[in-house]
Amino acid sequence: MNPTPSRAGSVTLVGAGPGDPDLLTLKAIKALRQATVLLVDDLVDDQVLRYARRSARIVHVGKRGGCPSTPQSFIHKLMIAEARRGERVVRLKGGDPFVFGRGGEEIDALREAGIEVSVISGLTAGIAGPASIGVPVTDRRHAQGVALVTGHARDGGTAPDWHALVRSGLTLVIYMGIARVAEIEQALREAGMAADMPAAIVSQAWTPHQRHALCRLDTLAQTVHEAALPSPSVLVIGRVVQAAALPAAAAWAWDCQAA
Ligand code: SAH
Repeated sequence: MNPTPSRAGSVTLVGAGPGDPDLLTLKAIKALRQATVLLVDDLVDDQVLRYARRSARIVHVGKRGGCPSTPQSFIHKLMIAEARRGERVVRLKGGDPFVFGRGGEEIDALREAGIEVSVISGLTAGIAGPASIGVPVTDRRHAQGVALVTGHARDGGTAPDWHALVRSGLTLVIYMGIARVAEIEQALREAGMAADMPAAIVSQAWTPHQRHALCRLDTLAQTVHEAALPSPSVLVIGRVVQAAALPAAAAWAWDCQAA
């Protein structure tokens, strides 16, 4: 049990980055050290939790596509209740809290409840994952920018406008796309993207299990299937993938396991 805190509670949404705890920001570590309650997403590596106080209460509130997860409304209620009790709550999310992390919805719920809330950004998987295999997602020689897109329109939401995305010429980084990779490949082909557009799948980026595969748009689904690349993975589609020269092992080091 934590001693009853005397001051008003607060919630900090903290981005834990894609996996490797060395990719936490110093601000994230400071917030973890101060937290009395942590609400932790599935995609957060356990190693990150070593920065939490021993006395902190850690609640796992998994939210992984396809698996049973804690309803969002329950997470909102829990954050609000703990903050009202005076706890310093850290809501720890994989990657960046505002990139497909429902951080926006959580901020709204907290503000509505009158709870003090702040956000600490994290490295998002869609930038740090490609970087780990040497892909600069906005390399100006190949693209004018990057679109971060969901491959999984939740709760009856609309699917991405693949035609508009193809016309834009932006690098496409698709989150939550692995389960629907065949549909995505087909949609992009139908929207006029070249069959030989370079593509990469980066799986479990910045973890000891990281793997990746390089292919073309027309072999994307086949490659995911044959290489049995698991979730979480990002799909990267665009000419920038030509730059993928670094072997993954050279691009990152998991040097904190012994710590
Ligand atoms: N807020 C997170 C994204 C959450 S949505 C961020 O900014 O990274 C969950 C999706 O993120 C997964 O389906 C996958 O597409 C991607 N993802 C998260 N962690 C990943 C990792 N370590 N490697 C590859 N993709 C990852």
